[in-house]
Amino acid sequence: MTSTETFIYEALPMRVRFGPGQLAELPEEVARLGLRRLLVLSTPEQHELAERVAGLLGHHAAGVFAGARMHVPATTSAAACEHARRVGADGCVAVGGGSTIGLGKAIALETGLPVVAVPTTYSGSEMTPIWGITDNNRKRTGRDPAVLPRSVLYDPELTLGLPPSLSGTSGINAIAHAVEAIYAPDASPIITLLAQEGVRCLAAALPAIAADPADRDARSLALRGSWLCGACLGATTMSLHHKLCHVLGGTFDLPHAPTHAVVLPHVAAFNLPAAPAAHNALCQALGTDDPAQALADLGTAVGAPRTLADLGLRDTDLPQVIDQVLAQPYANPRTPTRDDLETLLRAALDGSAPANRDRAIVRAAPIDAYTDLQR
Ligand code: NAD
Repeated sequence: MTSTETFIYEALPMRVRFGPGQLAELPEEVARLGLRRLLVLSTPEQHELAERVAGLLGHHAAGVFAGARMHVPATTSAAACEHARRVGADGCVAVGGGSTIGLGKAIALETGLPVVAVPTTYSGSEMTPIWGITDNNRKRTGRDPAVLPRSVLYDPELTLGLPPSLSGTSGINAIAHAVEAIYAPDASPIITLLAQEGVRCLAAALPAIAADPADRDARSLALRGSWLCGACLGATTMSLHHKLCHVLGGTFDLPHAPTHAVVLPHVAAFNLPAAPAAHNALCQALGTDDPAQALADLGTAVGAPRTLADLGLRDTDLPQVIDQVLAQPYANPRTPTRDDLETLLRAALDGSAPANRDRAIVRAAPIDAYTDLQR
């Protein structure tokens, strides 16, 4: 049998420490990096945790900046950079979700200060060199190796307080990275494996967390899944789903993780018919022959919002979303027309079943053909 498969895979230099109670190892981790004056970053809601982390760092803490906000407003980034300069920080510890880690990255972009990430959601930002800054309602993003955290400390204990609703949507946000990584133009076999395992972990863990947010095994499994899905995001180029969510978040201020949870089944239904290998990989990972419906069902199981209308989008906003999505080219298994985008967004707006499926194109591989991948 011959193969026509070609790919490029470049590993990112990531150091990860994982396990319950690992936060206690933070001083050792920053010492290993030679850092001595760390500014601890958090959102206002996680100020207390940031103070605890500063306490752990002792005299190596240069202060706390608890002003991180969703989508990294340019004004917040400027204030944090100024704060870091004022206290003579030689690095930042970002404790929190994607918003706080995003702020750490914005500081790194502006000042070159290294970031150590302590994630407390499943956003996966800690595994990527992707930064984003929002100015005048437009979110600019880019990739720069300088913003990739030098070290990531995953402690599932820190996720026990993540509210069940945000746990579910944040976990589906992570799954979205894996879904788009599998059909990415720069996908590769190692990414497919990471993505499948990440999806498997999260699809198993999220309903268990919804049932019992204090389930430590489920919390650990979900964080492992988010790590793997974040690594997929860091290694590949995202497509239509992330493009849509980027516009919805950056321009209409929709909340990041819930927006991903609503949109993902609709994009999967649109894209997977044109990406049979990705469809099959997701069938294996989710144990289904209909990944789009399985993702919608997962959203229901974790109590995620079902409609963009619930998140604040109005019917009259759709043309602007579509204009922005069509304005810039991006890789995608199918090129959506204006009508396609309108159909997809209307279904997401009012919560109808994922549309645009063309079952004739795809055929799921039998699950037992992949027993070596099953756990
Ligand atoms: P978030 O960081 O905005 O957190 C949401 C809220 O939950 C905040 O109030 C936060 O303080 C709180 N929170 C976080 N962890 C908690 C915990 N364990 N217990 C209690 N409360 C907790 O949400 P998010 O979804 O993690 O991040 C969204 C942002 O991350 C968006 O701006 C998105 O664009 C960005 N993001 C970036 C990348 C990237 O690679 N650059 C990847 C994913 C997401």
